[in-house]
Amino acid sequence: MPFPLFDLHCDTASVMEKKKQGFLQNDLCVSLKEAKGFSPYVQVMAIWTNKHLSDEEGWLAFHRIYKHLADDPAIKDRSVTFGEPYCTDLSRPTLLLALEDARILCKRLDRLDEISHLGVKIFTPLWAGVNCLGGAHDTGVGLSPFGKQAIQKALALGMIPDISHASVKSAKEIILFAKEAKRPVIASHSNAYDVCAASRNLHKEELDEIIRLEGLVGLNLHRPFVKEETANLSDLLGHIFYFLEAGAEDILALGGDLDGCDPIPEIKKLSDYEKLWEALAKENLPEKLIKNIFFGNADRFAKAYFR
Ligand SMILES: [Zn+2]
Repeated sequence: MPFPLFDLHCDTASVMEKKKQGFLQNDLCVSLKEAKGFSPYVQVMAIWTNKHLSDEEGWLAFHRIYKHLADDPAIKDRSVTFGEPYCTDLSRPTLLLALEDARILCKRLDRLDEISHLGVKIFTPLWAGVNCLGGAHDTGVGLSPFGKQAIQKALALGMIPDISHASVKSAKEIILFAKEAKRPVIASHSNAYDVCAASRNLHKEELDEIIRLEGLVGLNLHRPFVKEETANLSDLLGHIFYFLEAGAEDILALGGDLDGCDPIPEIKKLSDYEKLWEALAKENLPEKLIKNIFFGNADRFAKAYFR
C-alpha cells in the first residue's frame, strides 16, 4: 500500500541540471521512479549553486537550474505539479522550491521579488562560512545589515526562513525577525545537536523556538549529522525519539538532503524511506504519528504558509 511522503529538502534539482538528467527517471536518489510507492508525494527542491562559482555566477546558475527543472518533461506534461500554490489536490506528485545559500542575491533586495515570483517558498540564507547575509553554522558571526534586511523582506513576501546552516547567532536573529512578523521558522534539514554534536544540527533552544512558533524540523540522513561515519538507521531513530521527547511531535518531518549528502546505508534513495516507516512501526509508534512525521505535519504547514 502506498504511504504519504513530504520531504523538505533534496539537492536533486542542481544535480539534474549538472548531469542534464530529468525527473522521470535518472541515476540519482530522487526521481518519479523512486517516488512510485508514495501517495501523496511532495518534494521540496532546493536550488543550491556550486560554491566554486562567484556570487554573481551563482545567480546565473540559479536561473539555469530553475529553467532545467521548469522545462522537465514530467512538469511539461503535467504529471508533476510545479510552480503553483500548494493545493489540496495532491493526486499528482508536487514539487516546491527552496533557495539554499542566498549569497546569489549579491546584496540586491529586488532579487528577492524575483525568486518569490518564481515560486521559492523556503529561504535558506546561509550555507557555510560568511556570505553577504551573515555567518553560517561553522562561524560565530550573526546576520549582516543586508542579511537583516533580506530576512525581513523574505518574511514580508511570504517566504519561510530556514535556520538549517545558520550560526547560533544568525539563527537567533532570524527567529527574532520571524517573531516580529508573526511567522514561523523552520529547519528544513537538521538533526538534534544533543544527540550528535555537529554544528549543522539544532540546539535545544532553537528547537524550543521552532516548537513555540509551530514551524518544522526535517530529519537529515547525512551520516555525520546522524552520528558519525558509522551512523545507521537506529542512530537516526535516536534523533526521532529525542525530538518526540522534547515535544516536537507536531513539527517533526523529513528533510533527507538526498543527492546532496552521504546518507545512512539503509536509506540511500527516496524509495528506501519505506524502511524508516517499518522501523518506526516496529518501535510501536502509533501509525498516526508516523504518518504525521512522513507527511501530516509538513502538509498542515504547507497548507497554512505555501498557498
Ligand atoms: Zn544543505
